[in-house]
Amino acid sequence: MSLYIHDATVFDRESGDLVRGDLRLGAGPDGDRELTSDGPAPDDTLIEAHGALALEGLTNAHHHIYSALARGMPAPSRTPRDFAEILELVWWRLDRCLDLDMIRASALAAAVDSLRCGVTRIIDHHASPNAVTGSLETIAGAFDEVGLAHVLCYELSDRDGQKPVTAGLAEHASYLASGRPGLVGLHASFTVGDELLAAAVDLAREHGVGIHMHVAEDEIDQRRSQAYHGKRVVRRLADAGVLDLPGTILVHGLHLDDDERGLIRRSPAWLAHNPESNLNNAVGRYSWESCDPARVLIGTDGLHGDVLRSARAAYLVGQEDGLAPQTAWNLLWNNQRYLEAHHPTAARRNDLVLLDYTPPTPLDAANLAAHACFGLDSRHVRTVIAAGKVVVDGGSLTCIDEAATMQFCREQARRLWDALERS
Ligand SMILES: [Zn+2]
Repeated sequence: MSLYIHDATVFDRESGDLVRGDLRLGAGPDGDRELTSDGPAPDDTLIEAHGALALEGLTNAHHHIYSALARGMPAPSRTPRDFAEILELVWWRLDRCLDLDMIRASALAAAVDSLRCGVTRIIDHHASPNAVTGSLETIAGAFDEVGLAHVLCYELSDRDGQKPVTAGLAEHASYLASGRPGLVGLHASFTVGDELLAAAVDLAREHGVGIHMHVAEDEIDQRRSQAYHGKRVVRRLADAGVLDLPGTILVHGLHLDDDERGLIRRSPAWLAHNPESNLNNAVGRYSWESCDPARVLIGTDGLHGDVLRSARAAYLVGQEDGLAPQTAWNLLWNNQRYLEAHHPTAARRNDLVLLDYTPPTPLDAANLAAHACFGLDSRHVRTVIAAGKVVVDGGSLTCIDEAATMQFCREQARRLWDALERS
């Protein structure tokens, strides 16, 4: 049984064209998507699109579900003065308090937020040093329940001692051995010693996957790399073999010199840009100079689930480099190309978003990217289809009782905040 979508304005990513027509989406994770004029078969489920804009389901290339219950949480004991203090006083305090129930609630909250924004696939980077074992399984289970595809990893770091490192390596090993799409996660060079770096690269090689880690998000990463390792971050990662692994994602990449930019450009590694997070942490601005724009991905870095909004932010922040709307728009589709290249089971062709977008100006293939930068927004999302199944219909989730789920999330947020106040 397939979904038959009648009369949509379909964006074809490969050709860049907008085509008014019908789509058939096969059911299940391997289901196909095809433009058709056959009309619905007797057992098809018919969806009338009334000309709605149809985009492929969106992908978030860098998310942290662990931050989903942080919204409105008690303020830290004092205002962080710099990036290191933001981590120490906010995020590392929070992630140490997480248990598996809170992780499940975080994953569900992030999933609901994402689906409403048309995001059907998430590449997550998770940390919960006192609840490592079973954390990836818990996130995968929550995402599966609501229909989200996922590429998961655990954020390994030496910042909390050996116990979470040992548990984290084992968690990766069992998760990746299960055959589900994943990466090997590392926090950032400045909290990862040489022994852990080598162990992570070995594990990634063994499973044929890449590394997912923050790189030069703040100057502290470079300062500590120079002080402890006598070289800059990307040179250190290149020497350790990180850049050559298939599907490696380097996140942020703000404080790079020419040598490092060259290393990244000549390697097969991808870079995940998180413009709103960079603004929020006041860590600097991504420079588009001498990068390969086809290997820049777009993520939200745990701030929210709306990757379309992040692409718009990339456009706005990129104006100092004269970034074109088309380059910002392409980021969304680079995310999808990344999945197709490295995690094909998460790339699902039958994920689709229908948006009720009726602009006051002409819309065509040539100006769609400009519409995305100045008008098209997640508030226009009407229907979201994941693996050939409607998961958001008229703005409501179909797979779960949303009110009960949000109640569960608020209970777990209260437990988390209480634990934070005691910490
Ligand atoms: Zn991040």
